[in-house]
Amino acid sequence: MNAENSASARLTSDKANSPDRIPVEEFVPAEVSELDLYQKREKIYTRKIEGFFQRIRTLTGWPLLAGYFLLPWLQWGDRQSVLFDLPARQFHVLGFTFWPQDLSMLAWVLIIAAFTLFAVTNFAGRVWCGFSCPQTVWTSIFMWIEQKVEGSRNQRIKLDAAPWSANKFAKKVLKHSMWLTVAFYTGFTFVGYFTPILDLSYSFFTFSVNPWAGFWIAFFTLATYGNAGYLREQVCLYMCPYARFQSAMFDPNTLIISYDPKRGEQRGSRKRTDKSADVGLGDCIDCELCVQVCPTGIDIRNGLQYQCIGCALCVDACNSVMEKMNYPKNLISYTTENALNGQPSKIMRPRLIAYIVAVVVMCGLLAYRIVARETIELSVLRDRQALYYKTEQGDIDNRYTLKVANKTQNNHRYQLSVSAPHTVELVGSVEFQILSGEVVDIPITLRLAAQQQVRGPFNIEFQAQRLDAEDDIVSHESRFFAPAE
Ligand code: SF4
Ligand code: SF4
Repeated sequence: MNAENSASARLTSDKANSPDRIPVEEFVPAEVSELDLYQKREKIYTRKIEGFFQRIRTLTGWPLLAGYFLLPWLQWGDRQSVLFDLPARQFHVLGFTFWPQDLSMLAWVLIIAAFTLFAVTNFAGRVWCGFSCPQTVWTSIFMWIEQKVEGSRNQRIKLDAAPWSANKFAKKVLKHSMWLTVAFYTGFTFVGYFTPILDLSYSFFTFSVNPWAGFWIAFFTLATYGNAGYLREQVCLYMCPYARFQSAMFDPNTLIISYDPKRGEQRGSRKRTDKSADVGLGDCIDCELCVQVCPTGIDIRNGLQYQCIGCALCVDACNSVMEKMNYPKNLISYTTENALNGQPSKIMRPRLIAYIVAVVVMCGLLAYRIVARETIELSVLRDRQALYYKTEQGDIDNRYTLKVANKTQNNHRYQLSVSAPHTVELVGSVEFQILSGEVVDIPITLRLAAQQQVRGPFNIEFQAQRLDAEDDIVSHESRFFAPAE
């Protein structure tokens, strides 16, 4: 039990039995003085449990892990399938290449991710935290290793309490070595998303790795080792902001993990063959298995708590107990505030529909932007020294610098042209080659012949066209200045 729990008064059973409220942990100010903010963390020894929701966790966790570890090793054409090439300022994602100019799309992706999270949270509470968050997934891997090396919950408690011996030392060395191996591979893979992973592997094993790449591999190795090995639930309790604001997305129809106090209380132990009614107790046999499996160390029977990450381990634990006792399952279950109050639960409600519509519309717009985005980028800078120059013949020159980017995967030749309400001559090279991914600066002069006798500024439009694809053309407006008189 953590410090906050022990400092808080628990829900009294009459309140827990009240049918018109979700049982939420009560806080009694008189006990605040006992709370030590610098109290040493009590290590949580979780018990291993199997069950329906743990099978779902495995099914959702493995594809995510496989995706993370394998993606940078896969090739797409002649390139790494996902590579955020910062020095070249190109971001390759499967068949697409994005440029710094496409950064607005990243903002779109982040907004879509945020709205998806809002929708999922509004519908199913903290399933992201319990099933897919990297902190949860990596902590589960580290816990699995711990259980394999050091044994069951009781064996681990005994091992930690025992004096140092060769056996304890060997187990600790093996556990930490395995943790460090997973952490290293996690950090190495992460850096492999930013540096071609084949080159990184070669340079790493020939001891010629770039010092910055080496630093970031070490950094992410230690971060993974520390977060999943030691900090664990403390990341969720004290560092993650999501736990603090997720309640704003909850409504009475949101799925939450909850204990049914009407059915469970009065809790108490009894023989396996006893029926609850026969011994005058509720269905909770007070075995505390739900507490022993909880990765954040809370007792869900005290009501909905912000520490609950919605992992459903307690549901599986309690269901296994109910099965052994021959009682109906789901004393702890996924339910809603409305269901707890005896009201019907609604699946589709206005806020959830609004989130879903927003996500669908934004995904559609983003997909359109990606497909329809231009493969040439053109921007025009006017000469800052003078508005115009007069030649010896009386012609008027305006000078510009055109920036043209080739955003395709191949090298191409391009042609410049200009549209204007008066005849202007393009002085300088109008055909040029740009390598794939390059941005070139092209100095251009536009000349207005003296005999045209045009006065004042007028609008013009530059065009850059790919020579081998006539419809691949972009334009950019600018101004041409001439004397007013
Ligand atoms: S209370 Fe249950 S669902 Fe919540 S974190 Fe603990 S085990 Fe997971
Ligand atoms: S696992 Fe179920 S029966 Fe056991 S203490 Fe928890 S709620 Fe009660």
